[in-house]
Amino acid sequence: MKLLAWYDQNKRSLPWRLDRASLRDPYRTWISEVMLQQTLIAVVIPAYQRFLEKFPDVFTLARATEDDLRPVVKGLGYYRRFGMLHRAAKIIAEASPQDTPAWPQTQDAWRALPGVGEYTSAAIGSIAFDIPVPVIDGNVERVLCRLADIRQAPNLPALKPRYRKMVEGMLKNSGAMSRPGDFNQAMMELGQRVCTPTSPNCGTCPLASGCISRKSKSQHLAPAPKIRPEYQDVRLRMIVAVRRNPKNELEVALFRRGAGQRFLKGSRGFWYSELVDPCAEFAGSFRHSITRHRITADVQILQVSFCSKKISPLAHMTKENPDWLPVEAIENELISSLDQKAWRLTLRQLLS
Ligand code: SF4
Repeated sequence: MKLLAWYDQNKRSLPWRLDRASLRDPYRTWISEVMLQQTLIAVVIPAYQRFLEKFPDVFTLARATEDDLRPVVKGLGYYRRFGMLHRAAKIIAEASPQDTPAWPQTQDAWRALPGVGEYTSAAIGSIAFDIPVPVIDGNVERVLCRLADIRQAPNLPALKPRYRKMVEGMLKNSGAMSRPGDFNQAMMELGQRVCTPTSPNCGTCPLASGCISRKSKSQHLAPAPKIRPEYQDVRLRMIVAVRRNPKNELEVALFRRGAGQRFLKGSRGFWYSELVDPCAEFAGSFRHSITRHRITADVQILQVSFCSKKISPLAHMTKENPDWLPVEAIENELISSLDQKAWRLTLRQLLS
């Protein structure tokens, strides 16, 4: 098949494709797929290498603590996925006899793990286990829309069954059933590098002979612009609680965010709410986006007495007791950009 021949000659050299053994290794495939969710390849490459050095197999990852994991994934964003990855590693390790990982063998079994959805399970299944299932991301959707000259928004849910049928047909009719992982990666890479949004390079495309948009010269019409989710404006108050210990050293409170929190569930950081704390000193504001939310965050510094046995005045904020950490440790503890921005404003205020 021309697509696979093109892929064999042109595929990017990526650390998780170093050799056939790496490529088909379920652990490496899983880690790379989780990291690539919502994160650019250039950012993922060094993080992936760092991750494998620290956690070379699923058992090392399962034994790790959150403190071990945090610095390794810092800077990648969307940190909930790594909490779920960690939980899934523990499930696999517990189900494994001795030192041999008992990997799930079907797409459904992968989907049963925390943080593994339809896309990730299909990617792992096809790449590491040769399960012939389509992997359809935004790049593949664009290629498919052009092949069939679909002039609709590519992310319309109604198009999903059609995409699936098209890819299943291509897989069956092209002799790629024995290499479904390569086929899926070839389609994604073709969308990234050849069938690009604004200037598709049809002259080098291995699918050109069957492409209706190319024949109709309608590449600029297929697909139509994506349907964008509406953004929601949110105002947050972030409270950085500080206290002096008996040695007069400054300590800062970090809270574990529970399942009821609107943003960054499960992460550790500063307390936030949509109410102003009247006792707190204003340190400044910043803007930040999380998925469809455009956040304006006002940072307030709350001075807390060390001697107070009651957590008050923090008691009205949360039932959780905070961890009080030395001021020097905070920078390394914060993994979300929201907390890091709040901390930079706080430091400026504390040092002024
Ligand atoms: S021929 Fe052009 S428009 Fe069609 S799939 Fe290839 S690059 Fe895209």
